[in-house]
Amino acid sequence: MQGPLIETLARQGITRRTFMKYCATLASMMALPPAAGRAMAEAMAAAPAASRRPSVIWLPFQECTGCTESITRSHSPTLEGLIFDSISLDYQETLMAAAGHQAEEALHAAMKANEGKYLLIVDGSIPLGLDGAYSCIAGKSNLETLKEVAKGAAAIVAMGSCAAYGGLPRANPNPTGAVSVSDIIKDKPIINIPGCPPIPTVITGVLAHFLTFGSLPELDQHGRPKAFYGETIHDRCYRRPFYDQGKFAKTFDDEGARNGWCLFELGCKGPVTYNACATVKWNGGTSWPVESGHGCLGCSEPDFWDAGGFYKALSMPADPLKLAAKAAVVGAAAGVAVSFVNRGKKSAAKTAHETTTLADLEK
Ligand code: SF4
Ligand code: SF4
Repeated sequence: MQGPLIETLARQGITRRTFMKYCATLASMMALPPAAGRAMAEAMAAAPAASRRPSVIWLPFQECTGCTESITRSHSPTLEGLIFDSISLDYQETLMAAAGHQAEEALHAAMKANEGKYLLIVDGSIPLGLDGAYSCIAGKSNLETLKEVAKGAAAIVAMGSCAAYGGLPRANPNPTGAVSVSDIIKDKPIINIPGCPPIPTVITGVLAHFLTFGSLPELDQHGRPKAFYGETIHDRCYRRPFYDQGKFAKTFDDEGARNGWCLFELGCKGPVTYNACATVKWNGGTSWPVESGHGCLGCSEPDFWDAGGFYKALSMPADPLKLAAKAAVVGAAAGVAVSFVNRGKKSAAKTAHETTTLADLEK
């Protein structure tokens, strides 16, 4: 196994064995066969000179820069960060040294040189109000730029809940007329990586898959990679035994909270939120929100800002054990997805798949 990445790893004291282990773990997280870990390692390790690396163009639109912060901060100098050595990140306003006309030239040069082959990453929503005047770059609205750059892309990654669903900018009353990438682009493969922000490992996993196989991984009904969004937070939460026993914290500083009991009654949306926080965790696997004592807000689900209040409990189970058993049976038999109890009609109408709420499970 040779290539610039392997040489960079060696210079940083990372052994081939560690690199192989990382790729095997990534493949296993993505539910790929064992041989895929080796294929990923070879594809990344053999990444050629900069001019021939897969081109990635990253457009930040109406956003808070949280997604960029999440991905860049938690990487360097870990192995995940080195995936960025396998791609040619040709345009990213926040990270690139160039500015103004130089940056625009870099964007157009990359689009021309990699026509039909580059991966487009978008973070942030696209505001349609006031003819797009709420967010413009180089004198163009985000809508114009998205349409122009998407045309030559092989695929698009909508990173973060704003790009995937419209996110916070789209929250009622949506003053800027914010929409998602898939509301605008209909003729390209799009993968949604929602989260506010998304977990860095998820984006690097998707990039590794693209580098290795030249395609996007299998997606769920919301366009999310099933490997990372296939289970709810609740499915894998370490506080789940307390939920099943009916032991709930009633306030953030009561005895139950101090004993690490379930945060369901404090508004945790883990039962209806599909994401990998409980397993992949954050900051190099250090911790995650529920472990730090706060319930899940449901940030990887559509319209989570409007879905009934962060500290309002979902429909309360009368008998947690009975509910858990019912949920397991219903989930296994029908493969149905659980949805926010309080999700509005608009959102429900957008969801093509059948949904089951906690209220339904209690019947
Ligand atoms: S309700 Fe929240 S805190 Fe309780 S088990 Fe589920 S995910 Fe964990
Ligand atoms: S625990 Fe829930 S709200 Fe927190 S980051 Fe994960 S999915 Fe988002």
